[in-house]
Amino acid sequence: MKIPASWSELRIGVLGLGRSGRAATRLLAEAGASVYASDVADTDELRAEAEALRGPRVEVELGRHDARALEGCDLIVASPGIPPGAEVFQAAGVRSRPIISELELAFSFLDAPVIAVTGTNGKTTTTAWIAAMLERAGIKVGVGGNIGRALSEIAIDSDAGYEWVVAEVSSFQLADIDRFKPAIGVFLNLCPDHLDWHVDIEDYYAAKARLFDNADSDSRWVLNGEDDGVLRLAARQPGSAWYFRVASPLAAGEQGAFIAENDVLTARYGGAEVELVARSDLKLLGTHNVANALASVLAAALAQVPLAALREGLREFEPLPHRLQPVTEKDGVLWVNDSKATNVASTRVALQAMDRPVVLLLGGRPKGESFAALLPDLRERVRAVVAYGEAAAQIESELGGEIALVREDGSFEDVVRRARDLAKPGDSALLAPACASFDMFRNYEERGERFMALLGREPS
Ligand code: ADP
Repeated sequence: MKIPASWSELRIGVLGLGRSGRAATRLLAEAGASVYASDVADTDELRAEAEALRGPRVEVELGRHDARALEGCDLIVASPGIPPGAEVFQAAGVRSRPIISELELAFSFLDAPVIAVTGTNGKTTTTAWIAAMLERAGIKVGVGGNIGRALSEIAIDSDAGYEWVVAEVSSFQLADIDRFKPAIGVFLNLCPDHLDWHVDIEDYYAAKARLFDNADSDSRWVLNGEDDGVLRLAARQPGSAWYFRVASPLAAGEQGAFIAENDVLTARYGGAEVELVARSDLKLLGTHNVANALASVLAAALAQVPLAALREGLREFEPLPHRLQPVTEKDGVLWVNDSKATNVASTRVALQAMDRPVVLLLGGRPKGESFAALLPDLRERVRAVVAYGEAAAQIESELGGEIALVREDGSFEDVVRRARDLAKPGDSALLAPACASFDMFRNYEERGERFMALLGREPS
């Protein structure tokens, strides 16, 4: 599929009016295209948004997607929230239209080169970290994708004169690209995820592999040298590769970054090794964040950030909200907000990052996973688990008897109080619930904010 470039002559469908769909609609309107945009939802909030978008050449429909209208479009921009199996794609006339993601649309309008960050975990942290290093070096950066602004908003903002765009790129966005080509691609890791959206695991891997679709000899890749899935997808792709490793040194002849034996983050370029900062200088906890740090520093170095700014950027970067965020130390107990840990794998990563005994706040709406996979880490680090929310009974039956566990069926405030009673000076109390938040909260952000408010800290 080749997307025609003269947008003003085209009629474009935009499916889904979330943040990226709305930004895509605005971008297309500015480009002079005729737009049909729709969303199955119909809320007061969306009505106000729809009203703001409507124009002489922009039609917006709420409450349904009109297959007829979509069949008449030259091209459809599909929101990442709409899986390929969604009802709207059942109509053959809709399915036969060229479909692109908002990433592809925005890319075709962007002037600046793109650093794309993808992988199963750590995208948001790494994207923000790379951008912070570039900004520290005085480089004008647009940051977007899943984090912050939609890429289409950055494309609209072309007067800002961005020198680089740093984009967090999900598999949903990659699934429907055409010419998208990052100047620098960062591939953090690859493990099964989002099987509710992709048909199967191969489909998920195939979508992630599309990062390399338009690679050529100028392409530069920052790759996890310890992740077989990443290495398999990146093998034999055109361009040059820089590897990051946290458990092993770089192989002879490899360029990239690693942790040297003296616990110093170290980079190797063209044969020379450069010491960056000590691991203990990082403000973020956990080896996974060392991986994110190494990936970030390589991407920033490839974008010509000087060494001094790389070092400062490594030292000064603060944890993002709700991601292993130290909240406060009270009576010798360090309280940590990792509300973003909404599955068992992230909770394991969080536990592994703790170097003190842990009181773990575990619960919420279960996602069908077994909590038993937490046991090895719990046995090593946990003082007690406070099981709460809709998952409490399941947690109790899977972990009770194996480790110290109390069940708290009261409010979230009661859960925090219970953790406070259990923690001893020198411990950490960790909110890493391995569950969705929807039984008690609107989303994980609200859960983390409430946690912080209960501890007397205003959310940042
Ligand atoms: P994403 O945007 O990919 O969801 P985040 O930066 O928001 O990633 O981090 C989400 C969670 O993923 C973190 O709380 C942590 O548990 C886990 N995580 C972050 N970075 C990594 C990594 N490099 N490897 C494994 N897990 C990670």
